[in-house]
Amino acid sequence: MNTKSVTVIGLGPMGQAMADAYLDSGYEVTVWNRTAGRADRLVARGARRARTVEAALTANDLVVLSLTDYDAVYAILEQAPSAALAGRTVANLTSDTPEKARQAAAWLAERGAVQITGGVQVPPPGIGKPGATTYYSGPESAIEAHRSALEVLTDIDHLGEDPGLAALFYQIGMDMFWTGILSYVHAQAVAEANGISAERFLPNAVKTMDFRYFLEFYAPRIAAGNHEGDVDRLAMGVASMEHVLHTVEASGVDGSLPAAVLDVFRRGVAAGHGQDSLTSLIEVLRR
Ligand code: NDP
Repeated sequence: MNTKSVTVIGLGPMGQAMADAYLDSGYEVTVWNRTAGRADRLVARGARRARTVEAALTANDLVVLSLTDYDAVYAILEQAPSAALAGRTVANLTSDTPEKARQAAAWLAERGAVQITGGVQVPPPGIGKPGATTYYSGPESAIEAHRSALEVLTDIDHLGEDPGLAALFYQIGMDMFWTGILSYVHAQAVAEANGISAERFLPNAVKTMDFRYFLEFYAPRIAAGNHEGDVDRLAMGVASMEHVLHTVEASGVDGSLPAAVLDVFRRGVAAGHGQDSLTSLIEVLRR
């Protein structure tokens, strides 16, 4: 087989960007998608349309999956005989839970295929661009065998052999991303309610969202189990969040997000952490 050849299954915005990046890099690209019409633009660019999932799988050693979730992965792969998977490396760049990633790796291993789990860290326009990264986990040998093809898409951050690890890092990153970005959207709603435009607020928002100093300060303390309240105290956090909530509600903006934060802070104080750092909440949050 041509070493510069790959199959891409799943042509949502992400799969399309990936197929484009491979075509741009001179790869022979075989594509398959449930809604066949989504392949038309890529076929016009030179991609080969597989008529069946089996044909898509057997066309190449490396099969890239970019699907909504792992239910879609099985819905597609079960359309082909198991033999079509034997010997393939499946770069599963579909987001889902760590447990589902581990189950899929085992399911593929039973059929003679190797899964590399991937969690892409950029939106579709970032694919093939410098600075883009994907979390990968799975066998080092499989990643090394397909390094050059994977690097057409993004840089590789190989986290370890456990197939669930890339999904875990992806999900904890999304935990931060969604709550962080929602905090921006919420703050902008309060700003707008007070006549402050997104452009005017932007420089302040950028400064406030730069948590690097705090992360680098807290991480070694958390690692050492040190939640000393020498710099910040949770009791201060409660008072601060009460001021935030009052400001939000006085602005006529929904207060459920700051109220949820205040609730967590108050539970920390009730658990005896009022004089400890905010980081002591890790012990309250862990069930
Ligand atoms: P989409 O949800 O748009 O991908 C949809 C793809 O999954 C389509 O090919 C769709 O087929 C297929 N699909 C969904 N359900 C089924 C099913 N039951 N049977 C067969 N095919 C199915 O996602 P994106 O393209 O945006 O992203 C793909 C993956 O990349 C996701 O896991 C996402 O979390 C991840 N990702 C996305 C980013 C983004 O910004 N878009 C950023 C980082 C990661 P059809 O066309 O027929 O509907």
